[in-house]
Amino acid sequence: MIACCVAIVLALVFQVQGADEGCTAASGHCQDDSIHCSGSYQSGLCSGAANRRCCIPTGSGGSGGCSNVNIVTRSQWGAKAATAHTAMPVPAPEFFIHHTETPPCSDRAGCIARVQSIQSYHMGHNGWSDIGYSFLVGEDGNVYEGRGWGYVGAHTEQYNSKGFAASMIGSFDSHVPNDKALTAVKNLIACGVQLGKIAGSYRLYGHRDAGQTSCPGTALYNLIQTWPHYSHAHP
Ligand SMILES: [Zn+2]
Repeated sequence: MIACCVAIVLALVFQVQGADEGCTAASGHCQDDSIHCSGSYQSGLCSGAANRRCCIPTGSGGSGGCSNVNIVTRSQWGAKAATAHTAMPVPAPEFFIHHTETPPCSDRAGCIARVQSIQSYHMGHNGWSDIGYSFLVGEDGNVYEGRGWGYVGAHTEQYNSKGFAASMIGSFDSHVPNDKALTAVKNLIACGVQLGKIAGSYRLYGHRDAGQTSCPGTALYNLIQTWPHYSHAHP
């Protein structure tokens, strides 16, 4: 009898924890919001009653909640101005992982050159209004701002206004990005959730889940299937 009830309680605990992933991803924890939080409460990331909210400690996020993500802004990498903008509806329910299918880069100067050339290709050759991706991630551990959190991208046909996209700089068919790049993209997603740009219940996809492409490379595609929120073939 006791063993039985312990099992039920444990099952409930694990169920609740599973539903709190959005809060965990934002480096927070779920608790009754009458308890003091040395940071700020965010709604929509915790299961259970409405007053059970996500306490995100100051410092885990810092300015805007993303202090562990080093974003190289458009002005910092010398982006050309976009020729048009469409505001992105947020919070976005989906997130897509791509690779650039270019040589990789492992320092800031090399990554900046790479990002500039991708923007030139997307605007010049493809005729797009701007670089297609929301963000690009280098093996230097930096995140390079593409269209950013504000605007709809051009990365995953039919789904651009449903999800942001990060493109890992390099070609990842036979090997995965290094740990710096993988940590950076995971932190970027957590940052997006914390900022309310990505829904706490977001669905993670590889580009090939939503179209006829080998992107983001087989090795990287296999890896992201082990990540939280991975959602398999797009409906
Ligand atoms: Zn892609």
